[in-house]
Amino acid sequence: MNSGVKYFFLRMGSNTEKQYVKKTGTLFSGLLVKTNYFESAPGMLSGMFLKFSSLKPSRGYIIDPITYVFSLEPEFIRSWQKVDVDKAEKRLRDDLRLGTREKIPRSWIRKIKYPSKRQKNKIEIYNIMKAFRKLADLYFSDNIASVIGKRALAKEDFKDQTLISFVKNVISYQETAITSRYDTSRYSDFKDIIPSPLMILSPYFLINDEDDLKFMVKIWNLFDSQYDKGNGAIVLQCTINFLEDNLQLLLDSLSTIRKNNLFLWIDQFDEEIASSTQLEAYVKFVTQASSSGKQVINLYAGGLSPLLFPFGLAGIVNNVGYGLQRGAEPVKGGIPTAHFYIPTLHIREQVLATYDLLIRNNIGSTKEEFYRDVCSCPVCKEGIKNGVKDFVPFYGVLDFPKSRPDSTKKYPTPEALKRCTFHFLFSRLKEYSWAMNATREEVIHRLTTEINIWRIKKDHLQRLKNIFKKMPSRI
Ligand SMILES: [Zn+2]
Repeated sequence: MNSGVKYFFLRMGSNTEKQYVKKTGTLFSGLLVKTNYFESAPGMLSGMFLKFSSLKPSRGYIIDPITYVFSLEPEFIRSWQKVDVDKAEKRLRDDLRLGTREKIPRSWIRKIKYPSKRQKNKIEIYNIMKAFRKLADLYFSDNIASVIGKRALAKEDFKDQTLISFVKNVISYQETAITSRYDTSRYSDFKDIIPSPLMILSPYFLINDEDDLKFMVKIWNLFDSQYDKGNGAIVLQCTINFLEDNLQLLLDSLSTIRKNNLFLWIDQFDEEIASSTQLEAYVKFVTQASSSGKQVINLYAGGLSPLLFPFGLAGIVNNVGYGLQRGAEPVKGGIPTAHFYIPTLHIREQVLATYDLLIRNNIGSTKEEFYRDVCSCPVCKEGIKNGVKDFVPFYGVLDFPKSRPDSTKKYPTPEALKRCTFHFLFSRLKEYSWAMNATREEVIHRLTTEINIWRIKKDHLQRLKNIFKKMPSRI
């Protein structure tokens, strides 16, 4: 990776996001997918990566190994699965590596509530998800793989040798995820043109205390020695409290690692509601890590993150949909609600809440004012012809869902969700391309302008501006 270049990767998380990736994917520096998603749609994703790499200039891909999920409670990698009644017990025993004498808890098997005709002889089992079973077997040695799904993995589970092979397996998984799919005699000529990932990521687990850090330093060192190519990247996943309380220790530990590419994921950190000291710890980390030569890319960048480019941040990653930042523990998705990204506030709000904010701040009453103070992306230009009064009819359309004929409640239409998503992608791309060449002064000036647009809801902008004013620029 070149220093000075800024990156914006798009994380694709499901097949329904394909339509967005097809239309806007080439505008990003590359695509990123998590291993469990890759395992559930390897053919489609391999084809897509192949296509992206054939473009000029080519767009690469990254497979995030998400090793940390194995240290979470097993509920995050298990799900209810329908199987034939007579196969239920064997499936659980095989997939969860249960010994013949081990009892299967009754709570892991249940009847299907409203079985269809075809499900008459079926039952539900609380099993490990297929992709995670496969990953666990590829990543870990047998003794560790056999506890996966039953309990959270602990640092103590690893001996020196099993840690070495774990790091090696995670590297080789990413290197061969796609090439191994085509590795047959039929494709042997083809193999050379199959692109390998843009970057290879280190394994990672959440850091919440000094012992966790020591363990991660061990992993990073092993990664350093086992993967010596320039596109290796270490991943740092830590809580905001740890980052704030141990900033110097963290920076010192990182300075002993040879790899310069660093993916950062701050857990329990929301750029909008973070305190001044938390936000400052993030900015300081980025500035200081980058002055010691690290290229920091935020794996779950919030709305404010592009503004950190002049202060040393090297890149950001965003999902196609959903929230901007997230915690290590996944949140189960509910009914989709349409959210609108407000570019001049750098936050995302529900459509009606956004409308309310626009009215209360007296913003966007004419279309000219809307384009100036809110957004002028192609989607907004198409739908906002008369200012804010077009906002809800365009972005907040509700209807009875076609997929749920018995619903008594209206939900955002697919059309409304699509508009919100495209607006989100376009406005983030615009923010990114503006910020990649911006100076410290320009970013501070932009914050001042935005603070003046909004009467309320702008405290986070003020907090960031105060921090930036104390910081030297990296450019
Ligand atoms: Zn827009």
